[in-house]
Parts: sequence; C-alpha cells; structure tokens
Amino acid sequence: MSFRIDVFTIFPDLVEAMASASVIGRSRSAGTLDVRVHDLRTAATDRRRSTDDAPFGGGAGMVMTPQPLFDAVEAVDPPRPLFCLSPAGRRFDQAMAGELASSTGFSMLCGRYEGVDERVCEHLVDGEVSIGDVVLSGGEAAALVVMEAVARCVPGVLSNEASTAEESFSDGLLEYPQYTRPASFRGWSVPEVLLSGDHGRVARWRRAHSLARTIERRPDLIEARGGLSDEERELLAAHGLDPATGESRSS
Ligand code: SAH
Repeated sequence: MSFRIDVFTIFPDLVEAMASASVIGRSRSAGTLDVRVHDLRTAATDRRRSTDDAPFGGGAGMVMTPQPLFDAVEAVDPPRPLFCLSPAGRRFDQAMAGELASSTGFSMLCGRYEGVDERVCEHLVDGEVSIGDVVLSGGEAAALVVMEAVARCVPGVLSNEASTAEESFSDGLLEYPQYTRPASFRGWSVPEVLLSGDHGRVARWRRAHSLARTIERRPDLIEARGGLSDEERELLAAHGLDPATGESRSS
C-alpha cells in the first residue's frame, strides 16, 4: 500500500516540479508514495478565480478566502490529519516527521498572501505546522520541506533502510563528519581511522564525533537527552575531545 500525501495550493506546478524528481519522484513511480497536488483555483467560483480578499479591519495585503479552500478539500476528502502551513503552527521536526511517516498519509494546505481566513484554521484543518521561525511568501516551500522529511522516513522510500537510522537527530544527536575520496585533498587528509578498515574503531570514532559536534553546536540536544553518560565522557576523552565543549584538545 502506498503512503499518500495531498497538497492544496494555488501553485500546483511549483509543488509538482519538486515532487517529481529524485527520491520522491522515484517513490511515486514505484508506487511507494502517492502524492496528489490539488489546484485551489479550480474551486474558486468567481470569474477571476480569485482565492483572496481584503482583510476585515483593514491593513496591508490580502487574505485567502474560505470558500475555495473548503470546497477543494471537501471535493477530495484527503487523508487526515490535514495541516495548514503557517509560521504560527507547531514547529516541525524530525520526531514529527517520524510520527507522520508511521501512519498511512496526511495532507497539507499552503497559504499565500498574508495567510488564510481563521475559519479555515478552526473548522477545516486539523492543525497548523511551521517549518521554523522564518516568514516565507507561501506554504509551498514549507510543504515540500515537510514532504521530503516525512517521505524519507516512510518504509521502502530510501533503498538503504539504515541510512535514516544513523542520521542527524535519529538518536538525539547530530551526525558525525563524513568523508569520501580522495583520501588527501589539497593537503587535507581524511582521519586515519576511517581508512583503517577496523569497523569497531570506525564506529567508536563516529560516535565520539557525533557527540562532540552536538555538544559544540547544539547543547540543547544534549540537555534534552539528559546530558552525557560516564561511558560517553570516556569515549570523548579517548578521542581527544573535551566533554564540556566538544572541541578537540590537541588543536
Ligand atoms: N502574515 C503571516 C505570514 C503569511 S506568509 C504572519 O505574519 O504570520 C504566507 C504563507 O506562507 C502562510 O500562510 C503560510 O502558509 C506560509 N508560510 C510562511 N512562513 C511559514 C513557515 N515558517 N512555516 C510554514 N509556512 C509558512
């Protein structure tokens, strides 16, 4: 059975373009993902096919009017939950991506202009989702962020099942540094341990550097997982990494 994602937008081409390439495009062809993009304008009833109107109470910009949004959604009866993309929504993160991926599908409604009429938020959608504390001109880019993040957590979408398990945030840590050929580039060498072929040593080095990088860049993630264990402190020290700052002690 395929995982279904419906997107409602006044720019279907924008969403289709990105949802047709790479991982999502391939999964759609393979039948693992069923992405359906709906044009909100087709549900507009006036001659200009307008989806916006001036805000009651005055002020700059336009607001998306409820009728085409309700009609478009009701005509399709899309998989729930249906989220409205909004800077005022619940902050999207990897945990939410995993939660959504463990269901059978969900839907997204993309705002434009100054946003959507509040009755859409209250009576049509199941919640609002934000991709972070930034303001975009429309929900399409945000919907694509959510779609990509969820899709790669859906079983069967990534060919290598292990690749999501080891990634950033999967165990509350950032990913370790990655290297590929050549072993020496402009005089900068790849850490010797990665060339050793010793899988145990490689795994310990990766774990140590994953911890160190998280301590240095995202202490909030370390705090959220309840700090470091004694074993983790020892692992860091054994790799010349400072458990307090994550920095290399040798440099
Ligand atoms: N006036 C609104 C911003 C509207 S931006 C405000 O001040 O909150 C227009 C549309 O872009 C929104 O309706 C929403 O769908 C989308 N959008 C903008 N920033 C977003 C974000 N951080 N996350 C998700 N969607 C966003």
